Amino acid sequence: MKKIQMVDLKGQYAHIKERVDASVLEVINSTAFINGPEVHSFQKELEEYLDVKHVIPCANGTDALQIAMMGLGLKPGDEVITADFTFAATVEVIALLQLTPVLVDVEQDSFNIDPDAIRKAITPNTKAIVPVHLFGQAANMDEIMAIAKEHNLYVIEDNAQGIGGSYKFNDKKVAKTGTIGHVASTSFFPSKNLGCYGDGGAIFTNDDDLAHTIRGIVNHGMYVRYHHDVVGVNSRLDSIQAAILRAKLPNLDNYNNARRAAARKYNKAFEGVKNIVTPKVKGNDCATREDVICDTCNCHVFHQYTLRVLNSDRDALAKHLNDNGIPCGVYYPIPLHNQKAYQDDRYNEADFPVTNQLVKEVISLPMHTELDDEQIDFITKTVIDFVNQ
Ligand SMILES: *Cc1c(COP(=O)(O)O)cnc(C)c1O
Repeated sequence: MKKIQMVDLKGQYAHIKERVDASVLEVINSTAFINGPEVHSFQKELEEYLDVKHVIPCANGTDALQIAMMGLGLKPGDEVITADFTFAATVEVIALLQLTPVLVDVEQDSFNIDPDAIRKAITPNTKAIVPVHLFGQAANMDEIMAIAKEHNLYVIEDNAQGIGGSYKFNDKKVAKTGTIGHVASTSFFPSKNLGCYGDGGAIFTNDDDLAHTIRGIVNHGMYVRYHHDVVGVNSRLDSIQAAILRAKLPNLDNYNNARRAAARKYNKAFEGVKNIVTPKVKGNDCATREDVICDTCNCHVFHQYTLRVLNSDRDALAKHLNDNGIPCGVYYPIPLHNQKAYQDDRYNEADFPVTNQLVKEVISLPMHTELDDEQIDFITKTVIDFVNQ
């Protein structure tokens, strides 16, 4: 059996080596390292793939979030609501811009921000909601867009874990994640579903004026060379990374299909296993059962395959897996509202029952495009042996 890895970037590279190597060499020979033609071509190709009017590449997914918020003109003191159960980058940029982060609880089945908790957190100072499409599944965008409309709020989708995924609305329309809110961010960090070989990110929007504003912000606030109209940043996707992303983008749907296929096999193996809860796909009637993974609307792209372990044995299971040569991850072990940097008197433990429970239960199994049946078999047997012992 091949050694099991959390993410197998080398195995994936082997399939696209020729094109990647040639494209990287071409950039080196052209010396167009910054804002070269590869960046522009990648931008156009991603716009087409997502069916969104504007993609603005930038240096990483954290910058993308920050620049999106700067572009919307959010001001110190504005409250921005986001999920308590996510990677810290989301709340970090809110705090960096001196906006006020307002963390709210998530749904137990989807791990995503809970629309009822958003409603309860709205005040006259609320300006924006940042849903994170956590682990590759879209948040409840019907509810979130309705709340935003009712209260005149911006919606910034953090699509770092969801690229290539879709959301099926109640009226059955389907849209790619990252094209639904006013603006969205994504990350091309190597382990993300569309990863480059270094850092990279992008902002998406269908709003022409906002796209124009953001194109200036990423480039030192310049709209005309050496005229600095607004305070900007330097945040660029470099041409070598763009060339690599161009080689990978045509494979993104296949990559996500491979992830879904692995998730399906995991789900099947864990069917009926006590104390193990498999990830729920809230497919909104594209599947009759919530745990059935639907290919027709790509409603989950499994950035992570995350189980809940109900008998307080999560840490022991993690150790057992590691002892058997199986890597695993706990995303995320601490609620953001309990992180030193983001503590706030406004928070009350009773407002986060789900996050407080999930941080003790979740475990993410190896998930990537190169998992084979033998590996999945070994992983699921090792998990099941442990919980049945
Ligand atoms: C990875 C990630 C980010 C940050 O992306 P970087 O490119 O590493 O800056 C932001 N939000 C979420 C949910 C992520 O998973």
